[in-house]
Amino acid sequence: MTQKFDVVVIGAGPGGYVAAIKAAQLGLKTACIEKYQDKEGKIALGGTCLNVGCIPSKALLDSSYKYHEAHAGFAIHGIEAKGVTIDVPAMVARKNGIVKNLTGGVSTLFKANGVTLLEGHGKLLANKQVEVTAGDGTTQVVEATNVILASGSTPVDIPPAPVNQDTIVDSTGALEFQAVPKKLGVIGAGVIGLELGSVWARLGAEVTVLEALEKFLPAADDQVAKEALKILTKQGLKIRLGARVTGSEVKKKQVNVNFTDADGEQTLTFDKLIVSVGRRPVTTDLLAADSGVNLDERGFIFVDDYCATSVPGVYAIGDVVRGAMLAHKASEEGVMVAERIAGHKAQMNYDLIPSVIYTHPEIAWVGKTEQVLKAEGVAVNVGTFPFAASGRAMAANDTAGFVKVIADAKTDRVLGVHVIGPAAAELVQQGAIGMEFGTSAEDLGMMVFSHPTMSEALHEAALAVNGQAIHIANRKKR
Ligand code: FAD
Ligand code: AMP
Repeated sequence: MTQKFDVVVIGAGPGGYVAAIKAAQLGLKTACIEKYQDKEGKIALGGTCLNVGCIPSKALLDSSYKYHEAHAGFAIHGIEAKGVTIDVPAMVARKNGIVKNLTGGVSTLFKANGVTLLEGHGKLLANKQVEVTAGDGTTQVVEATNVILASGSTPVDIPPAPVNQDTIVDSTGALEFQAVPKKLGVIGAGVIGLELGSVWARLGAEVTVLEALEKFLPAADDQVAKEALKILTKQGLKIRLGARVTGSEVKKKQVNVNFTDADGEQTLTFDKLIVSVGRRPVTTDLLAADSGVNLDERGFIFVDDYCATSVPGVYAIGDVVRGAMLAHKASEEGVMVAERIAGHKAQMNYDLIPSVIYTHPEIAWVGKTEQVLKAEGVAVNVGTFPFAASGRAMAANDTAGFVKVIADAKTDRVLGVHVIGPAAAELVQQGAIGMEFGTSAEDLGMMVFSHPTMSEALHEAALAVNGQAIHIANRKKR
């Protein structure tokens, strides 16, 4: 007999698994289909984020930072750490253990919440029927009142540098190196390229990042991007802007990479090359021809502001739809859709999705940049505070960067918080909470912040918006 569900979710990434759990919590009979197999051939939940994305990259970033600190950051504290070495397979194994823990945790949550896991490839047919093809080729069709498509994304391949997961790898391969490459090339100075480049640079690789655009981190605030380029370059990353990769050739265990920049055609040789030029939505064999679901011109599933597709009762969330390709965006869309299916009037604030780049120092922001606000003709007041003036940052010997708060000149409402520096991700989240409640710079300035904390830099930057900072000379006088 055909199994029937209130909700069937295709994909168990941070979009799909959160949607499934939320739907089940709301009393809906829910199934989630997942096909991803781990190295042992077992179905693993959690999607890109848990298996080959957010979590494993942060595990390696944290391990490599500790190693780097032992080499370059201990001496100033009077700590002598001689003969510190790195066991790369052990570092990668620790990362794999964390992934296993978390993906197993999602399975446990499915059981605890009564979500039925259907293992295999899901495909939406007409009339909200969903076909599930198991690994052994057997198929079953389930019926759903509502379907949530959450098939996520996959790395973009470029013809000049075809990935072979040996010398030329994508982000997944770059999480699996078993030794530190002597010379590492990275194509693309986006979030993923900078994070993975940082991991291996900290462990001793000579890293060159080739970026086609002339502008570094175009989505970030210009002042932050400029500081980031300065700091990362000082750390040893060779970031070559305006360098478009045109071809590559694998020779023995090395790869020659051809690119053009202002000086013409050039070639560099690397031991490993990471291709991190963006991600594309996964829709392969996801939709039957008569499913009725439309894609947009860039291949994403077309949805409205509430993630509804062109078919009533069929929704799509996360990386497979428009908007930032971020785990927290996917999850919140999942919650919104589950609540709407349950009859609630849920919505999501797309204007306040924080972005984070987990380099050291971290780079994070929420809201609009100064250049975007200026282009929109909005008059703003800006307050900045450098970590060099923060007692907590000095104590931690972590003083690079600053906090920048941008407020509407007329209303004082905070329109953007931009941070490069220690704990930037956490500080920006504080800004986001305030902004969600319509905070003014004055409001933030009136709050009591613990001393000494990195958060005080946010407090002071908010005060500086109106020329009232205490621990730095104010550019703007009251
Ligand atoms: P996915 O996580 O891609 O999950 C989709 C799931 O659907 C997969 O498990 C897939 O196997 C399954 N699937 C697809 N098609 C089918 C089908 N037909 N049938 C059954 N199953 C199917 N984001 C952040 O917010 N913070 C970070 O720090 C961060 N770091 C990242 C680092 C790296 C190296 C990478 C690659 C990504 C990172 N991201 C980060 C992005 C983040 O991983 C994605 O935004 C997030 O995973 C998107 O969630 P999703 O549920 O939409 O899709
Ligand atoms: P993101 O989309 O943020 O992951 O960033 C990917 C980056 O890769 C973008 O900044 C692109 O400009 C860059 N990129 C794409 N193709 C090439 C190429 N052939 N050579 C160099 N950089 C590239």
